[in-house]
Amino acid sequence: MYDKGKVDKLLGLVHEMAKERNIELPPSDPNPEQQPVYERYLRSIGRKPDDIDRVIEIERIPQEQRGMIYGMLLTSLMNAKNQSDSELKQLLFLITTLFSEQRATGFLRTIAAPVVAVAKRKTPALNEAFCLGVSPLKWFNGQSLIFERTPLCLVQSGCFSLIEIFVTLFQASQKDVGYAVSGTWRAIEDYIRTGEVKPAEYGLGQGLVNFGDSLIGVLTTSAEQFVVAHEIGHVALGHTVTALRGLVPIETNRAAPTAMATSRDKMEIIQPSHFDEHCADIWGVSSQLEAAASASDEAAVPIACAGSTIFMGLSMLVEFAYRLHGEQLDDTHPSASDRLYLIELALELTGNHENAYVAHRFREFTEQVGRRHPNFEMPSLLSRALNKMAQSVFEHLGFDLSKATYITEFQ
Ligand SMILES: [Zn+2]
Repeated sequence: MYDKGKVDKLLGLVHEMAKERNIELPPSDPNPEQQPVYERYLRSIGRKPDDIDRVIEIERIPQEQRGMIYGMLLTSLMNAKNQSDSELKQLLFLITTLFSEQRATGFLRTIAAPVVAVAKRKTPALNEAFCLGVSPLKWFNGQSLIFERTPLCLVQSGCFSLIEIFVTLFQASQKDVGYAVSGTWRAIEDYIRTGEVKPAEYGLGQGLVNFGDSLIGVLTTSAEQFVVAHEIGHVALGHTVTALRGLVPIETNRAAPTAMATSRDKMEIIQPSHFDEHCADIWGVSSQLEAAASASDEAAVPIACAGSTIFMGLSMLVEFAYRLHGEQLDDTHPSASDRLYLIELALELTGNHENAYVAHRFREFTEQVGRRHPNFEMPSLLSRALNKMAQSVFEHLGFDLSKATYITEFQ
């Protein structure tokens, strides 16, 4: 672990610097009022909150490298006066996240905050009780449910670690594609075997990636934010009330499933239709774009455009890996490939063709990683069936399709 004295000194420096530049650092949990219902829920399914909602550790970074990273962050801090407020804010946020004791739920609520603000404006119902938390399920997608009449959106933190590895290796691929491709498969294999990533094993782009680079952080956050935004979409669109529900087993570890499941080893979640899932995706993307449009940073929109593509690209690889192992996910979401098809249409429809350049590079990276296996397929360029689905989804969400003949006429 870190030298506690050094860490306190670093955090002190961070807060001083933030104050000096008038940068407001978010609290470690913007919605502590959500914690009691979340913890009651975990106990109701026989789980201890401390086991699920863990204190975030930076175990991803190998022990021997931590000193170096610490030094690099310090150097960036010393160059703070050459950085713009938004760059510095990102750096200070990264440092506080890495070095202070933060619970996974606090982190989840922090990255969701901009989308939650948009959602509350669009859907007054969300101003009522509503709760975000870390999921006890080792599933790549999030889940939603109602507990004590409160909509609960749950997202797994293991999926977040995998997103971070994916983005870091994308960055490393600029210098060494082979390394990035093998590293991604290795991480995915580990993830599907255990439901988590054993991050310390991954030296993660030593010499290829600059950890002081805030781009890795913002892209990772954007993809994670999309996962949460999708779940909030289920609440905003009323799916938590209208969708079918089903009991699903809680596996603590895929490698060692619980031998005798009792009712306490199951949880009831909504199991929406494919139509509803696509609606939640497009609602999520639109809300992310809306949140980004009000940000002062001009890179915010391209980064928001990339979040959903990063997540779907990685999901396609994860789904493919599950199939290779002969496993089927008992999850109701449409395939990631179909979801990406509709998301790309939504980016076009919202006039973000030019802003999707980061998204396109992640699409290319996904293809590069997938190419290692001959059967891996990217979404088709034109699908009549998906265009039909897209039309009903977009119309349901109030999009104007009068100029989108490429969707309405090819069905
Ligand atoms: Zn969903």
